[in-house]
Amino acid sequence: MQPILDISDLRKSYGDGFEALKGINLQIEAGEIIALLGPNGAGKTTLISTICGITTATSGAVTVGGHDTIRDYRAARAMIGLVPQEINLEPFEKVINTVRFSRGLFGKSPDEAALERILRQLSLWDKRDSQIRALSGGMKRRVLIAKALSHEPRLLFLDEPTAGVDVELRKDMWEIVSALKEDGVTIVLTTHYIEEAEAIADRIGVIAKGELLLVEDKASLMARMGQKQLDVQLSA
Ligand code: ATP
Repeated sequence: MQPILDISDLRKSYGDGFEALKGINLQIEAGEIIALLGPNGAGKTTLISTICGITTATSGAVTVGGHDTIRDYRAARAMIGLVPQEINLEPFEKVINTVRFSRGLFGKSPDEAALERILRQLSLWDKRDSQIRALSGGMKRRVLIAKALSHEPRLLFLDEPTAGVDVELRKDMWEIVSALKEDGVTIVLTTHYIEEAEAIADRIGVIAKGELLLVEDKASLMARMGQKQLDVQLSA
């Protein structure tokens, strides 16, 4: 079966010549949850940004659902939802308009039933007419996910969705991710937390200094490596 995401020898150098991605290879099957673990500066955001077309790869190739992200950008991007690390929401906008507008940006026709489904899925339906500024941090994160799902993508990237949030909110996020998987959404998330990867991922990748050091089934990785060893690797 064709992977939903296929990354071949992806490299990214920034203008100063710094090589942030040093030849990443990764295939992801539809329906999987992959957690990419890595310390600050490992290249996690650069990887996601390059796949999503926010930055341009120096070389290599990425396909999403068989669509090349350069040659066939629109088709590939239509299949991708992106939840960025920072909360980039308009504070005075209503929840429902935020999601509605995002859907429009992807050229999808208005579909109030789809909007309702997405907002209900994230327990935001009762808050649909609230302004973003009135929401708690946890609810704002839910809106970010709803916005990313507005055009009904099959592949969702979550860039450090629980960075700086408390334990309660972290668990809340894990439940959302599991529910999305049940709905058939493929998820790639980045994290610093090994317990997060362990709690929700099917496979875990370890990324450091622009290299994907390993990608392995969670159970076999946990059995093979003690948590201590992984912690050492992540803090290197
Ligand atoms: P974090 O966990 O802190 O978000 P990360 O794993 O997401 O880190 P990136 O943000 O992808 O890491 O950064 C990877 C490397 O690329 C870092 O050394 C960073 O300083 C560098 N980098 C990122 N963006 C740029 C840029 N626009 N120009 C030059 N270097 C950059």
